[in-house]
Amino acid sequence: MSTFVVSARKYRPSSFDEVLGQEQVTNTLKNAIQNDQLAHAFLFTGPRGVGKTSTARILAKVLNCEDRKENGTLACGSCNSCKAMEDTASFNIIELDAASNNSVEHMRMLNEQVRFRPQEGQYKIFIIDEVHMLSNASFNAFLKTLEEPPEYAIFILATTEKHKILPTILSRCQLFDFRRIPISEIVKQLELIAKKENIDIDHDAMHLIAQKSDGAMRDSLSIFDKIASTFKGKIAYKEVATSLNLLDYDYFFKAIDHLVQEDLTGIYLLYDEIVRNGFDAEAFVAGLTAHLRDILMTKAPETTELIQSSEDQKKRYKDQSKLCSQSFLISSLDLLTDTAINLPRASNKHLLVEVALAKMAYLNRQIEEGSDQKKKSISLQAF
Ligand SMILES: [Zn+2]
Repeated sequence: MSTFVVSARKYRPSSFDEVLGQEQVTNTLKNAIQNDQLAHAFLFTGPRGVGKTSTARILAKVLNCEDRKENGTLACGSCNSCKAMEDTASFNIIELDAASNNSVEHMRMLNEQVRFRPQEGQYKIFIIDEVHMLSNASFNAFLKTLEEPPEYAIFILATTEKHKILPTILSRCQLFDFRRIPISEIVKQLELIAKKENIDIDHDAMHLIAQKSDGAMRDSLSIFDKIASTFKGKIAYKEVATSLNLLDYDYFFKAIDHLVQEDLTGIYLLYDEIVRNGFDAEAFVAGLTAHLRDILMTKAPETTELIQSSEDQKKRYKDQSKLCSQSFLISSLDLLTDTAINLPRASNKHLLVEVALAKMAYLNRQIEEGSDQKKKSISLQAF
């Protein structure tokens, strides 16, 4: 029986070049290795699921590899140290999750381990995840070790909350900021995995997964796994939207069509359908706001690039943007932003949304009247 290996583990990067969307970090690390300017302590900061721990493991593997390639920046993958690392049997690499091991006692044990030289390989490497979870007392216990590390010890600390790290620790570490991974890069990676796993999933569905995970590869992969195991055959956008409990973008295209046609009945019935499908007023307003923003962006080719959508999708936005004037879009965004602010304390949320929709439906008239008045006043001035 074959066992299912989660994609986040199966496709974990194993070299610096495979780390997704963190070139600024991996290039600096590679340079430091090549120029022999490696610090004894590193602090990796950034959002969750973007590759901090993976990069820490890659660095650890490279440093202890007995037969490094590419100017010392690539682990060979076949020496004793690399093999031990792959089997997670290396005694030279000690990983500690500070979220669950944050007592002073744990730090004492760690300090104890630092005292013993590596059995084989050059370095003994300590990876401490979620380092901000350490208590003050544990931090202090650890600080002594960090101040005077033996020459074979290397510390890689990782955190999602840099502001919680004591300045005394920060000042002793080389800092690396990891960023959210661009959606386009996550999509590329998902495409690659889908191909390797023989999963037929459409492009917009992958976009949706990447968007939902907010720039974290790990989250994208776990959503992807869940969806791949739920659906048989081709996985379409609509099914993914439903299973992620996300509002289908078709709703918003329809909503704008109704609004620009002053079709109040149409927009009210559509809103009612959305509510009956289990979405609340907040989700609808947020979705419609994001939709209008994307339409506004397609008004110019330069800003079209700011939309995190597939090319097909961008074309749909562009087509719809031809129906909407810039003033309509901006006034609508203004209206919806106010609605979003007022929603939490509204006693009748749906009424508030319906009033906003009515105003939007008649926005074009107001805008025209406004410009008529302006024309009038200009022609009056001319007299
Ligand atoms: Zn090796």
